This record gives sequence, C-alpha cells and structure tokens, in this order.
Amino acid sequence: FDWSMKERQNRTYDLEMGLRSAMANGELMLHYQPIFDTKSGKIAICEALMRWDHPTLGRISPAEFIPIAESCSMIEPITAWALEQACRDAMEWDENVRVAVNISPVLIKSDGLPRAVIAALMLSGLEARRLELEVTESIFLEDSGRTNLILSDLQRIGLRLALDDFGTGYSSLGYLRDYAFDTIKVDQSFMRGVEEHSRHRAIAQSVAYLAHALDVETVAEGIETEEQLRCAQEMGFTNVQGFVLSRPVPAIELLAMMRSMGSDAKDTATMQDRRRA
Ligand code: C2E
Ligand code: MG
Ligand code: MG
Repeated sequence: FDWSMKERQNRTYDLEMGLRSAMANGELMLHYQPIFDTKSGKIAICEALMRWDHPTLGRISPAEFIPIAESCSMIEPITAWALEQACRDAMEWDENVRVAVNISPVLIKSDGLPRAVIAALMLSGLEARRLELEVTESIFLEDSGRTNLILSDLQRIGLRLALDDFGTGYSSLGYLRDYAFDTIKVDQSFMRGVEEHSRHRAIAQSVAYLAHALDVETVAEGIETEEQLRCAQEMGFTNVQGFVLSRPVPAIELLAMMRSMGSDAKDTATMQDRRRA
C-alpha cells in the first residue's frame, strides 16, 4: 500500500460516482472517426468513440472509464445510449456510410444487448445493414455457447460484426473459422511497424490475404503516415483508418467534413480530398 494507490482508488471512486450522472448531465458524447474504402477513397464507415468531459477532472479517456463502467454495471445503459445516439447521427449521412459502435465483451452475454440494438434501430429508423458492432476476441474467453447464439441472432437481424484489434489477443484461427465476421480490424500495433519491420508486414499481409479468401472486409487500424497508408493499400486492405486521414471528430465536424468534400452531407468525401484538405 502507498499513497499513489490510495489516489488511484479515490480517482476510480470519483469516476464511478461521476458516471452515474454523466449521461443525465450530458457529459458523455460520441466522436466519429471515418474509415475509408481503399479502392473508391470514399468514407465507408464511421466509428463512434465515446468521450467524457468530467465537470472537475476534465476529459477522461474511454480506455480509463469503460473498464470502470464495466465493473459498476453502468456499461449497459451507456452502451444503449451510444447505440441510440450513433444510429440517430448516422441518419444524417449518405446511406452507403455505415456506423460502427464498440461493444464491451461483458455485454455479449447479456440479453440486454439485442434489446438495446433493436430499440436503437426502431427509434432512429436506421437500416440494420448500416450498423456494425465491433467486438474483441476476449468475448470468446468464457464462451458458454451463448456467444455464438447472440452473435448469429444479431447478424440475422441484418447487423454487421467486426472483430476489433485483431492480432493482440489469442488471434485463434478457430474464431475466424467458426464465426462469420463481416470485418476484421488489424490492430494498430501491426500497422505501426509495416514500413521498417518485414515481420509486421508479413503478419498484416497474411491476415489481409486470409480475410480476402474468406470474403471478409479488412480495416488497417491506426494509420499515421503516408507510407503506412501506401503499404496498407499494397497489402490489399479493403479499408483504412487512422490519424493521417482523420482523427475522431464531433458529429457536427464530421458532417462539415462530409459536406466540404461533396455537394452535401449525403455525398461523401474521398480520401484524396481529405488529404489535400
Ligand atoms: P478501438 O475501438 O480500437 O478504437 C480505436 C482507437 O485508436 C481510438 O482511441 C482512436 O482514437 C485511436 N486511433 C485511431 N487512429 C489512430 C492513429 O492513427 N494513431 C493512434 N495512435 N491512435 C489512433 P480512443 O477513442 O481513445 O478509444 C480507445 C478504446 O476505448 C477503443 O479502442 C475502444 O476499445 C474503447 N471505446 C471507445 N469508445 C467506446 C464505446 O463507446 N464503448 C466501448 N465498449 N468501448 C469504447
Ligand atoms: Mg473499435
Ligand atoms: Mg481497434
């Protein structure tokens, strides 16, 4: 035990208490990061990334508050809110642009998830095919058989499923064989080194090949440089996401970005325009 431990406990406690009122007080918001189609250069998907402006502690990273929300059973209402907000925002975009929402592994086992998804679609009027759920491999850790059931039920409604941060967990080929993911997102740690490290490149390349053979889309995550972007295109990734193209931005800025690159918000921007901007 030391004081820094005590401080950490206090902060966790403050965040836990704060989370309970954050939604009602309008402190939570969604930012969106566009994901571009490598071939057409257009925005294909926008990933919703949660932001929290705490009244006294300032902006808190989702990497810090999502695990707290998971442990204090706030993750379910927060996710329901995110799904609803994301679907409503997506109604303002071109109908070919999908919206992706991150789903915490603890929710895959709960009956609340399908209910929240259906409610969000009905309230917003968004077509199910435009909603993509991002899950990580950790959902398979304690698979009781329910996971597959819930995932296939969601796909039956028409939703798309993306496997997020691929390469960082167990990366078992069994998951790719047994679960029909629509998209595989290769973690940024692999894309980071593709220019210098042939080993990183070899792994990213083989995931791109494998996904292509399985008829699954691929996203190269965390593209920060023009060189990484070129590599991802050469390796045959169908989609790219990263700071070199756009950081996550508030919904209103995303709309402005979409508008500035096309005649209106329903006419989406191209990757080239984006990089010239
Ligand atoms: P993620 O789902 O893998 O999201 C991608 C993260 O990488 C985002 O961080 C994004 O800002 C960041 N990123 C994108 N491009 C680049 C790049 O070129 N370079 C670098 N260095 N980073 C890049 P963010 O927004 O801080 O989110 C962190 C994680 O928190 C997410 O990782 C996701 O696991 C979780 N998260 C965010 N929003 C939600 C949510 O609404 N629900 C749940 N359950 N988890 C969320
Ligand atoms: Mg994600
Ligand atoms: Mg990711």
